[in-house]
Amino acid sequence: MDQLLDRFCRYVRVETTAVEVTDAYPSSPGQLTLGKVLADELQALGLDDVRVDEHGIVAATIPATAPGAPTIAWFAHMDTSPEASGKDVKPIVHEQYDGGDLVLPGDTGKVLRPAETPELAALAGKTIITTDGTTLLGADDKAGIAVIMTAAARLVTDRSVPRGPIRIVFTCDEEVGRGADHIDVEALGAVAGYTLDGEGAGTIENETFSADVAVVTITGRNIHPGLATGRMINAIRLAGLFLSRMPWQRLAPETTSGREGFLHPYVLEGGVDSATIRIILRSFDAGDLPGHAEILRQIGATVLAEHPGATIDVHVKRQYRNMVEGLEKEPRAVALAVEAMKRIGIEPQMHSIRGGTDGSRLTEMGLPTPNLSTGMHNFHSPLEFACLEEMETAVKVLVELARFWGREK
Ligand SMILES: [Zn+2]
Repeated sequence: MDQLLDRFCRYVRVETTAVEVTDAYPSSPGQLTLGKVLADELQALGLDDVRVDEHGIVAATIPATAPGAPTIAWFAHMDTSPEASGKDVKPIVHEQYDGGDLVLPGDTGKVLRPAETPELAALAGKTIITTDGTTLLGADDKAGIAVIMTAAARLVTDRSVPRGPIRIVFTCDEEVGRGADHIDVEALGAVAGYTLDGEGAGTIENETFSADVAVVTITGRNIHPGLATGRMINAIRLAGLFLSRMPWQRLAPETTSGREGFLHPYVLEGGVDSATIRIILRSFDAGDLPGHAEILRQIGATVLAEHPGATIDVHVKRQYRNMVEGLEKEPRAVALAVEAMKRIGIEPQMHSIRGGTDGSRLTEMGLPTPNLSTGMHNFHSPLEFACLEEMETAVKVLVELARFWGREK
C-alpha cells in the first residue's frame, strides 16, 4: 500500500486541470507532463508497447500469461475537473482517521464533517487523503491511475495469475467530454474495457445518462444608452428572459433525482450585443432528448416573438449515450467484475450514474466499458478526499478481474 500511496501523492501534485474552451488537445500542457511520468514508469515496470501518441494519450500492454485468453482494457483519465483549482495540490495524509471533523489547514472555513458526509463516517480507522482546502485533490481520476499502475506492477511480477493481454490507457480531457475523442477502439482489440473512475468501493456503474449540449446564441443590438430609446435590444435581458422560462421546477438537477432527467444551464456569458448560454440536456432515455431540445427552441421562439430584431440560435450537439444497451452485447464485462469483487469478499452494488464517463462513449464505439470504484469521494470540490484502503481494494479487484478473464476464451 505504501507504493500505492506514494504513486497517488506524486500524481496529484502535477497540475492537469482540463480547459473547456480551447481547440488544443490535450487542453492543458500538464496532462503531457503527467503522461511522460506515467510512460516512464510503465517502461520501468517492464510493460510492452509503451507509448504516448500525438494526442498525449498514454498506452501500454501487460503481456499475457494464458495463451488465447481475451484482451481487456483498463482506462483512467489524467485531467482533473475545471470546477476547482488543481494548481499546487498539497495532499494531506490522515493515518488511522479518528472519525472526527477534518479542518483543512489552507482554508479553515473548509471542514470535512462526518455528520454531513456519511461515507466519511464509515471510514474511521482508515487512511484518508484530503487537500489543504485551497484546491481539489484530483483523486478523480488519479486514484484510478494509481490503482491501475499498482495492479500492473503486481501482475508483471506475478506470472501465476492466468491472464490475457491487458491494455492500459490513460486518457486526456475526460472532464470536458473529450476523453474518448482519440481512442482507436479497433486497434485496442479488446473485448471489454473498465474505467477506474468511480466513487468509494464495491460499486459497478453499468448505466449512464444519455447526453446532449445546447448552445443558445442571442444577438441583440447595441447603441449608446443615451440614444437607445426604441432602438437597443439588450442580449443580456433576453438571456434573462430565456432562463426564466426554463422549466426548472420539473427539469433541473436541483429539483430532480433518481431516474429523472434535466436541462441545466451551466455557462452564461455575453454583453448587450450578444450573449451565450450553454445548457446540458440529460436523460437515461435518449428518446427524451429531442423533446428537451424542442423545449429550448420553443422558449427561443417566444422570446424572439416579443423582441423582433434580435436573433436566437439554439444549436444542439450530441455528447454521449447511455451504456446499458452496449453492455448487453458483452454480458461478461459486468458479470466478471461482479465475480472479481465477490472473490475478495465484497458484495458489489450496481449503480446508475447521473452523469457520463469515458465508458459511455467507448461503449457506444463498440467497447463495452462499465465503471468501477477507485476510492474517491466528493470529487470536483476542495472537500474531495480519497481512502487508501478503498484504493487497495480496487487494485485487488483488478488483479482478480485479470484472473477471471484469463480463464475465458
Ligand atoms: Zn473522473
